[in-house]
Amino acid sequence: MKKIIQDQRLFFHTNQTKSISFRIKALKKLKSILQENETLLYEAIYIDFKKSAFDTYTNELGLLYKDIDEAIHHLKKWSKIKSVSTNWVNFPAKSYIVPEPFGNTLIIGAWNYPYQLSLAPAIAAIAAGNTIILKPSEVPKNTSRALATLINKNFSPNFFNVIEGGVDETTYLLNQKWDKIFFTGSVPIGKIVYEAAAKHLTPVTLELGGKSPAIVASDCDLKTTVKRLIWAKFLNAGQTCIAPDYVYVHKTIETDFLKACQKEIEASHFSFENQNYVQIINEKNHKRLTNLIDPNKLFFGGNHNIENRYIQPTLLNNITEDDTIMKDEIFGPILPVLSYTDLSDIIHKIKQRPKPLSCYVFTNDNSTKKRILNELSFGSGSINEAIMQISNSKLPFGGVGESGIGSYHGEHGFRTFSHYKSILEKPNWFELNLKYFPHSLKKLKIIKFLLKL
Ligand code: NAD
Repeated sequence: MKKIIQDQRLFFHTNQTKSISFRIKALKKLKSILQENETLLYEAIYIDFKKSAFDTYTNELGLLYKDIDEAIHHLKKWSKIKSVSTNWVNFPAKSYIVPEPFGNTLIIGAWNYPYQLSLAPAIAAIAAGNTIILKPSEVPKNTSRALATLINKNFSPNFFNVIEGGVDETTYLLNQKWDKIFFTGSVPIGKIVYEAAAKHLTPVTLELGGKSPAIVASDCDLKTTVKRLIWAKFLNAGQTCIAPDYVYVHKTIETDFLKACQKEIEASHFSFENQNYVQIINEKNHKRLTNLIDPNKLFFGGNHNIENRYIQPTLLNNITEDDTIMKDEIFGPILPVLSYTDLSDIIHKIKQRPKPLSCYVFTNDNSTKKRILNELSFGSGSINEAIMQISNSKLPFGGVGESGIGSYHGEHGFRTFSHYKSILEKPNWFELNLKYFPHSLKKLKIIKFLLKL
């Protein structure tokens, strides 16, 4: 690891990654490697947690191809030196901003969308001209191995290398000096990463998690709301960072909402056989999740099976903020439903918690929409939809407060992996002697005037 890190540092200093053609070539190569090896990638992820080719394409590879195409298409524009106006005290001069890569970057991935969460930041890092060491999550070991095999066989380790491993390897990597660290994962490990980065004053992007609420107002379009909400919650068996974690539904429609949710789950036939459902990632998480199913609060579902790491899509009702399930992020196929009567009350309750990664509101009422946008702070969200905000690369994706620092996707990813160097360039033919000694009241008067312009 030490040698690879040293070599990447030397390689960055050759300036090769700064050329646009180098970056475009690397992006094209990455795309063709993924395309040529789709079968291998599908097989690996299916062994790890029975994720289907359809889901792997729609929420992993397809997004990556789009990211690559977009970066290639816009790279010249994003990398351009941007002129800005010059203020009068500096007259005559030019002012401009030069985007430059940070240098040597470390990307640490999470397991739940193992290809997308490892490679989407890598695409942004390549586009911005950095070198990359990628440490995918060790939890889905076949996908981690597939990534390491494909990347390490096709890219020079001086530029882009995958290092596999768990806590020991990540701890070693975090103790080294980096120019940028990009981490996706849980809040507690995010804190470890932030602390390690602080030792070297390394800039970080932290893509974390938390409990993302969904609010279902009495005036919503119930049928569409339930369809979108159930899809979003049970996609990837609830193992999605921006999945609705819990629902506040208006008391007047609570019963109809619960019945409609049950109907929608039944109609969706979530199962491994239908390839529209995945396993819980490991036994530890399976046990953690099944312990959260309180039989006294069970409305629908609740069946599970440790051999297959299966948990049926489950609805819990009559939940209050004091229930265990309301303490930490669920990250699994269990949806607790809480009822409310007063919007102000739930806004207050959400505000008592850490700022969520996402928030969803289902309503046709403009004043409800406005209140949620105005009064709650969260990373990203949707109105009358859930999760799909992530698929628009024009929207920066990230958290706020405990749900994360920084954002990426599309140009936002390029910016995340770039430093913007500010330059003032002066000609030598003119000198406005105002700043030099001897000072005078007249000079001060002119300076004051120029500063006002
Ligand atoms: P995790 O924090 O357990 O692991 C993430 C990475 O950190 C892995 O690569 C792992 O090897 C490494 N790691 C684990 N323990 C470590 C330690 N002690 N020291 C150093 N590194 C360590 O998270 P996870 O279980 O892979 O993912 C689930 C969490 O990630 C959830 O909270 C979820 O909400 C969040 N998440 C966030 C996003 C996002 O984009 N915001 C996306 C996916 C997942």
